[in-house]
Amino acid sequence: MRVGNLSAQPGEHTFGYLTGPRSRSGITVDVPVHLFAGSEPGPTLLIEAAVHGTELYGTTAILDVVQKLDPHSLRGNVIAVPVLNRVGFDLQERGLKMDGKDILKQFPGRPNGTLSEQLAHIYFHEVVAQSNVMIDFHAGGRTAYERYVCFTADRDPANPNPIEVKRHKLSVAFGLDAAGYFPRGIFAGGETEDAIEAAGVVHFTPELGGGTGWYANGMENIRDAERGIWNTLKAMQMIDGALETDGDHCTIYNACVVLWKPAHDGLFVRKKEFGEFVEKDEIYGTIQDPYTGQELAHLYNTADAIVIPSGQNWPTVGSTSVGILGVVDRVVNLRETDLTVTF
Ligand SMILES: [Zn+2]
Repeated sequence: MRVGNLSAQPGEHTFGYLTGPRSRSGITVDVPVHLFAGSEPGPTLLIEAAVHGTELYGTTAILDVVQKLDPHSLRGNVIAVPVLNRVGFDLQERGLKMDGKDILKQFPGRPNGTLSEQLAHIYFHEVVAQSNVMIDFHAGGRTAYERYVCFTADRDPANPNPIEVKRHKLSVAFGLDAAGYFPRGIFAGGETEDAIEAAGVVHFTPELGGGTGWYANGMENIRDAERGIWNTLKAMQMIDGALETDGDHCTIYNACVVLWKPAHDGLFVRKKEFGEFVEKDEIYGTIQDPYTGQELAHLYNTADAIVIPSGQNWPTVGSTSVGILGVVDRVVNLRETDLTVTF
């Protein structure tokens, strides 16, 4: 297999840096890439993390898998990118400092654009477009906690296309007890989602962990992230074995409510619990003055829905969502449903 300037022979694991663009002063933004070329033919799975530089649970899980994955018992190929946004990782920032952009939202990129656009162009064409399935790990960063698998809503829910059918199955096979689909363009950006889909790639995003609880809640999330990678390999029939999950069911939500931060900055205090049903126009949370405790603003819920585990702590930052709620689309029995996909 070949990815840009990198290659691996069947049965081989190699590591190298995909040549990326250079900043105007010559700083390199090469991308660290593990290639696992299976001994037998099969599909290609891309696992990537830290396109947002502070979201590192997936990084740890990918590094765990990289230590254990044996290319001799693999059908197909795995491309593993533990840290896509190295500048953001270094600076503990979400985006790419040089142009202030979110790399994820630049796909399919532009060869003569800004640094993020150039990086997206190289990465999209050399890595993403070569893959059949792309797991793009995210987390709450430093200020939020998340726990669900998210994917883009079908174009025509009554008549999903083959990529959408596979996306549903793999989002569930990953093995969390909650998954949710979002209106197009909410998180990855519409152009990015369209480009990935046009390339024939099945794309989903585990949102796992975050906030200040790396050691309090992080270990479980890292374990589940790693288990999700193995489960995906099994569902893609790239390795043998049964799916491993804690429970028997995965609830798929139509994540129809995304509450963005109110105009006021301050302490955000969530008033509702994960899993709680909230009526339309109920108060979901408040913004408090961090010094006087005065309530500056209420954040009202916009539709009858259940709180999906996703919560901003403090302070409220940028365009980050502070609440995600959904209505149950369906509950999938993990033991009785065939979640395998064929490429
Ligand atoms: Zn993210």
